[in-house]
Amino acid sequence: MAPSQDTPLMQQWREVKRRHRDSLVFFRVGDFYELFHGDAEEGARILGLTLTSRNNGAAARVPLAGVPVKALDEYLARLVKAGRRVAICEQVEDPSEAKGIVRREVTETVTPGTVLHDQLLPDRRNTFLVAVSPTRKGVRGVAALDLSTGEFAVQQVAEGQIGHELGRLEPSELLLSREEEGHADLEQALAAVPSSVVRTWRDGWLFDALQGRDELQSRFRVQTLQGFGIEAGDDPLVSAAGALVTYLQEIRPGGADHLRPPAVIRGGSSMVLDEMTRRNLELVEPLRSGEVGGTLLGVIDQAVTSMGARLMRRWVLRPLVEARAIWDRQEAVSELVADGARRRALREALSPIADLERLAGKLGTGRAAPRDLAGLARSLRELPALQSATDGAAAELLSRVGGELDLLDDVTTLLDRALADQVPVSLQEGGVIREGFDEELDDLRQVRDGAVDFIARLQAREREATGIGSLKVGFNKVFGYYLEVTRANLDRVPLEYVRKQTLANAERYFTPELKEWEQKVFGAEDRIAALEADLFADVRRQVAEQVGRLQATAEGVASLDVLAALAEVAVARGYVRPEVHTGYELSIVAGRHPVVETTMPRDEFIPNDLHLDDDGFLVVLTGPNMAGKSTVLRQVGLIQLLAQMGAWVPADEARIPVADRLFTRVGASDNLVRGQSTFMVEMHETAAILHGATDRSLVLLDEIGRGTSTYDGVSIAWSVTEHLHEKVGCKAIFATHYHELTQLGDLLPGVRNLNVSVREVGDDIVFLRRLEQGGADRSYGIQVARLAGVPAEVIARARELLAELEGTHSGGGEGLGRHGSHRPASGPPPDQLSFFQSAPDHPAVLALRELDVNRTTPIEALRLLDELVRSA
Ligand code: ADP
Repeated sequence: MAPSQDTPLMQQWREVKRRHRDSLVFFRVGDFYELFHGDAEEGARILGLTLTSRNNGAAARVPLAGVPVKALDEYLARLVKAGRRVAICEQVEDPSEAKGIVRREVTETVTPGTVLHDQLLPDRRNTFLVAVSPTRKGVRGVAALDLSTGEFAVQQVAEGQIGHELGRLEPSELLLSREEEGHADLEQALAAVPSSVVRTWRDGWLFDALQGRDELQSRFRVQTLQGFGIEAGDDPLVSAAGALVTYLQEIRPGGADHLRPPAVIRGGSSMVLDEMTRRNLELVEPLRSGEVGGTLLGVIDQAVTSMGARLMRRWVLRPLVEARAIWDRQEAVSELVADGARRRALREALSPIADLERLAGKLGTGRAAPRDLAGLARSLRELPALQSATDGAAAELLSRVGGELDLLDDVTTLLDRALADQVPVSLQEGGVIREGFDEELDDLRQVRDGAVDFIARLQAREREATGIGSLKVGFNKVFGYYLEVTRANLDRVPLEYVRKQTLANAERYFTPELKEWEQKVFGAEDRIAALEADLFADVRRQVAEQVGRLQATAEGVASLDVLAALAEVAVARGYVRPEVHTGYELSIVAGRHPVVETTMPRDEFIPNDLHLDDDGFLVVLTGPNMAGKSTVLRQVGLIQLLAQMGAWVPADEARIPVADRLFTRVGASDNLVRGQSTFMVEMHETAAILHGATDRSLVLLDEIGRGTSTYDGVSIAWSVTEHLHEKVGCKAIFATHYHELTQLGDLLPGVRNLNVSVREVGDDIVFLRRLEQGGADRSYGIQVARLAGVPAEVIARARELLAELEGTHSGGGEGLGRHGSHRPASGPPPDQLSFFQSAPDHPAVLALRELDVNRTTPIEALRLLDELVRSA
């Protein structure tokens, strides 16, 4: 099949496809988007479309699948969800005016990171397209763009931190340089991004920093990028930002005028939150995806608007580290807590405000429909009320944001003048422009609206002249206006009536007068439609010119929304303002877990105190399973984080030092899904903590070391604690069921033992959920097993074994397993012959006896084992 035999349509398609190889091409033909060849087959597979074929001239028949234009969004949604790109190829000239085949062009490419269709965008979170530049001296640039709102942020990130930053941005699509494919550091970072997120690989030149600088300068019409805070040495950053902007031209050739200048985020402006911490604290997503669990965001996101909700999410993922900035937010939240009337006024004024950021996006891409502009007008009219709700506020942040709010009066005035009270969904329906806005339009409408009158008069006159009482004037789309006479009256039809259409019971006619009038009306209809379209386009353009101001206002509205939401939560849930300070001490009185407490009736959650300072900054937290260790641990992390967001916290009192980093690790098996052994993952993460933590960090470790044998686990946990105590000096809590670790409390001055207490009632235990000084003295594993429904005979046998083990172990002094370990680590059950007893002088036994398990690393242990095996 030689392409030259293609029909002109197929040749045109081939040309388009050649330039959009990696996309499915939606090729507009009349009322359908058609997919050809491989695209058709893929469309059939993903969308369940029926595969047919089109006769392609002399060439073979071509596989074809079609999608009705009206259903575009629905199909796009499914393709984008499946991670596909779609190039939408429209007819760009009127088919009736085309000479030969209609001209077609790709007007937009829809990718998962650049969707703009309302139905495809989640309201309460951003959709980021994120570019990562190639590495340069260990640094990469990361640029993130939300095309639906125009937000654009850039930063430089050290190689090893890329994964954390990507996790925080939660991108929908990644733009990467093909030359970096397989780069170890990048691969590692990408492993942290769900595989469902589309990776778009592009040639390296796209990331050229010199070219990027030019692109950015011409895009934002500036001579240098210095005004944006971008300096000469910022090549990685420029490279990422430039690549994004260039890519944007490729997928939206029509432009995106609402793109904001890049906001440069410098390191150190927010708390470092790595992926595991975000996950383990369940900040914005529940730990097990797919499960609808409570998240911190779920509890505190009381924002009224979608803009506020998106900002809230960002505040959660980007806690502040500058005390000054935290205090500013706290002031505002506190004032809104104290002044209920102001808070309610604010939230009431916010509630009718539409998503101004997304409206800005629609204006910037020329997609704002009449109803969008009407919604904009309605929202803008609420701004004065919002502003006055901040009048006289004592908190600097409230009065500044409120005071600086640009009310866009000029835009409101224009829209109020231009738009009708009730605008239709689409421009084609007519009636978008208000009467009195344009004289010519008013005149044309008068002509058209004269129709009803004219028809009534004509009908009355003709009835009288012909004597046909049932004669009527009607209209249909095909034949236009007509006079209708029933069959019974045909003999009375005058000569000047010209027959137009014959029905079963009637004939339809026209007269020269009716014809002439019809032409005038039709002309008016057409001109009205054209004129309305022009006028609307002009209004839209004028509004679009103010898109930057609109975005600034949207930002202010979102901030006020978040501050009021945090105040609302504080009041509703009984939070307190934490004293955030730059010192070391952390103190929480009657702290609660913000999410867990919402899952139970009020007052059922048992609050706990915690105090960490120079004299006790590492806590070994013991207690049986289910006692509430993880809950305490996480609640401390969440309170720390809320405090650094500027929010109030679930406690009676709190003194919280500003932390530079928050680490949370849980030695749980769900890491297995990521394909590494639990233990390996744990050790990676432990290494990251040991390298990354400073004395200003808060480290929370839950059951670390579980993925290996008891001795290994204890040894590792032990030496990690020692290191943090001696070398790092960070505040840390270890929740562990290794009672052995409580010995550290006696050995190291900064270590304090706490336990979550239980009370024994006969054979049962009652969870008190209270933190107490000292280590837990037993593990109560068997009681917990009983509570969990393990059959009675199994429980009974377990008790027997436990008694035996505790018996064999009674002489144990300082050694491990003093409190009765969880497994018979000290030896097999007595009826089994011990290797140690059967061959007391065997070299292997001697070697093992010499081994100090407390000071042996897993690797050393492996090496020893290897030697023993060799020498055996
Ligand atoms: P552990 O880590 O010790 O195994 P968890 O922290 O997972 O225990 O707590 C187990 C359950 O106990 C939680 O799911 C929660 O329902 C309940 N719980 C924990 N702490 C409290 C508390 N302070 N008040 C009330 N219930 C609690």
